[in-house]
Amino acid sequence: MSDAFKVCKTVLVTGANRGLGLQIVKRLVTGGCFPGKIIATARNPDEAKELQSMSKDHPNIHIIKLDVVSEESIKKAAVEVEQIVQKDGLNCLINNAGINIIANFETVTAEKMLENFHTNSVGPLMITKAMLPMLKLAAANAVGMGIHRAAVINMTSLLGSVELNWGERAKDFKWYPYRTSKSALNMITRCMAVDLEADGILCVAIHPGWVRTDMGGPEAPLSIEESISSVLTVIKGLNEKDHGTFLHYTGEALPW
Ligand code: NDP
Repeated sequence: MSDAFKVCKTVLVTGANRGLGLQIVKRLVTGGCFPGKIIATARNPDEAKELQSMSKDHPNIHIIKLDVVSEESIKKAAVEVEQIVQKDGLNCLINNAGINIIANFETVTAEKMLENFHTNSVGPLMITKAMLPMLKLAAANAVGMGIHRAAVINMTSLLGSVELNWGERAKDFKWYPYRTSKSALNMITRCMAVDLEADGILCVAIHPGWVRTDMGGPEAPLSIEESISSVLTVIKGLNEKDHGTFLHYTGEALPW
C-alpha cells in the first residue's frame, strides 16, 4: 500500500474496536505499510477482543482507553499518547468514533440531538485540541502538508451535506441528530483547517461511503475492506490542495 504511511510514524484511530476503525488498524498492519506506532483507542479496551489479539502479533499497536464524550478520558488519553509518540509527535489523528441516533421530525428530542452532537461533533473537536501539542511536534519535523507531517482526518458522512439534502435525495434518512452532527463536524473541520494551517496541520473531512458495519447495516453496498482500502488511499495522497475539504472515499470533493 502506501509509501506515505511508511513516513507517517504515528497514527491514532478512535473507535478502533469494531467497524471501520478496526479495519483501519487491520489494513495498516497487514497492508505492508506499517507506521511506526498505531494507537488504537476504544472506550472499553478489555472487550476489544479482536484488537487485543491483533496487538499480540503486532506489538506496535498500542491500545488505549478513550471515551470520546468524557473530558477526563480525553485528558488521560492525551497523556498516554504523549508517552507513546515521544519526540515523533502525532502524524495522523483519525477521528472515527461515532454514533447514529435515528430520529425524524416527530421523534426527535433535545436529548437525542445533544447526545449525537456530543459524540460526533464535540468529541472530535476536544480530542483534536487535546492532541494538538503532539500534532504540532510532528508538524515541526517536516515540511509541506500531508500525513508525512501532521493531519486530522474527521470521519464524516454524505448525510451531513446540507446541499445534498434536497429534492429526491431528501426523501430518505430524515435523521435529525445524525445529519446535523455530521454537518457540525464538517464545519468544525473547516474551522480547524483555518486555525491549524499556520502550524502545517492538514484538516479534512472524509465520507467513507455507505458501508456494511453495525452502523451501516447489511443493505449497504460497500464492504469494510472496500471502503477502508479506498479511504486509506485517499488519506495517503492528501496534500496542500486537500486542506479544508470534504472528500468522498473515492477522493472527489463533495458539496458542503
Ligand atoms: P460502528 O457503529 O460500526 O462503530 C462505531 C465505533 O465508534 C465503535 O468502535 C464504537 O465503540 C465507537 N464509539 C461510539 N461512541 C463512542 C464513544 N463515546 N467513545 C469511544 N468510542 C465510541 O460504526 P462505523 O464503523 O460504521 O462508523 C465509523 C465512522 O464512520 C462513524 O463516525 C460513522 O458516522 C462514519 N460513517 C459510517 C458510515 C457507514 O455506512 N458505516 C457512512 C458514513 C459515515 P463501542 O463499540 O464502544 O460502541
